[in-house]
Amino acid sequence: MRHTESIDSTEVLKQAVQLMRRHGTSMHPVHYAIWYEYARGENLDLRNAIDRYLSQHLHLDDAVAEALHKRHVVGSGTDPAMLRRMSDSVSSVLGQIADSAARAGDQTAAYGSSLSRFQDGLNGREPLPGLEEIVATTRQMHSAIQDLQRRLADSRDEIGQLRDELDRVRLETLTDMLTGLANRRAFEQRLAACVTLAASAGLHSHAPCLLMADLDHFKRINDTYGHGTGDQVLCAVAAALKAGTPEQGLAARIGGEEFVLLLPAMQLPAARMLAEQLRHAVAQLRVPARTPTGGETAIQVTLSMGLTTLQRGETGRQLIERADQALYQSKSGGRDRVTVKAG
Ligand code: GH3
Ligand code: MG
Ligand code: MG
Repeated sequence: MRHTESIDSTEVLKQAVQLMRRHGTSMHPVHYAIWYEYARGENLDLRNAIDRYLSQHLHLDDAVAEALHKRHVVGSGTDPAMLRRMSDSVSSVLGQIADSAARAGDQTAAYGSSLSRFQDGLNGREPLPGLEEIVATTRQMHSAIQDLQRRLADSRDEIGQLRDELDRVRLETLTDMLTGLANRRAFEQRLAACVTLAASAGLHSHAPCLLMADLDHFKRINDTYGHGTGDQVLCAVAAALKAGTPEQGLAARIGGEEFVLLLPAMQLPAARMLAEQLRHAVAQLRVPARTPTGGETAIQVTLSMGLTTLQRGETGRQLIERADQALYQSKSGGRDRVTVKAG
């Protein structure tokens, strides 16, 4: 799978480089990114935008490329992992070119030295016709190769920076900025992976449990103490959930005051015990706050939870729906409780 991906991405990369050459763009990482996307063909908005622009202009300059990149690559929800693979393959192609250039540089230098030695060996005798010219051309060739090596090193540095930027974007797209927990996108990706694994590896040992949790009467906290304090409560709850999540599990904030815990390869009774522990831990929290009259207080919150486990042949969506129904039962049953729906 990985291998096929890298062949595909190298193929796309070749097309991207051809397009860049055809349109005379600079070898800037942003150009690599947009032309790679263009060559991949799935980002239709970007393709149309580039086609439209080039139907009216001769070149795509750096500023326009930057704007297209911001709008149609970074802002389009394009998978940062794909961009990471792209920059890896650019980097590896540049690495191969750099190695070849280094070898060519070494050979030219060696050739230049033996020519010079030969020239010195003539010891004032009549120089061979054209020898000086050959020596001069060899020097020029060597200096051109050194220049190429320098430019390749610069390009590799730029790709390295692009890769760091992509890693940062990737992390951001998977993280909830308020609490630092995983976000809905990260949860959905992990859930999809868990469902696939359970389907392929035999359900019983790999079925994940899903715990869905929603803060009780959270709106009142915002209304009474303000949104900022509400945010602090969310962070405190997130930290308690994260601290109680087993290593292979994932705690995510998937909405305003809604959290999930995905628990791979866990049996329902163990997951129920964990849910009760977490419910208890959250109920024990005391978040310091100022009352509307300026006094000090400590806010307490409770969680309602719904717990279920993946059934044979089920999709992630069906699992989420059942956890949601269980959560709804906890709400209608009086809140601050865990409802388990086995299947
Ligand atoms: P219930 O027990 O039925 O869940 O009641 P509730 O008040 O918790 O639920 P409701 O859906 O009525 O209100 C949720 C509130 O969460 C409303 C919204 O203002 C608040 N909220 C959503 N996102 C954020 C956020 O990021 N920060 C803060 N402080 N509040 C948020
Ligand atoms: Mg809610
Ligand atoms: Mg709520």
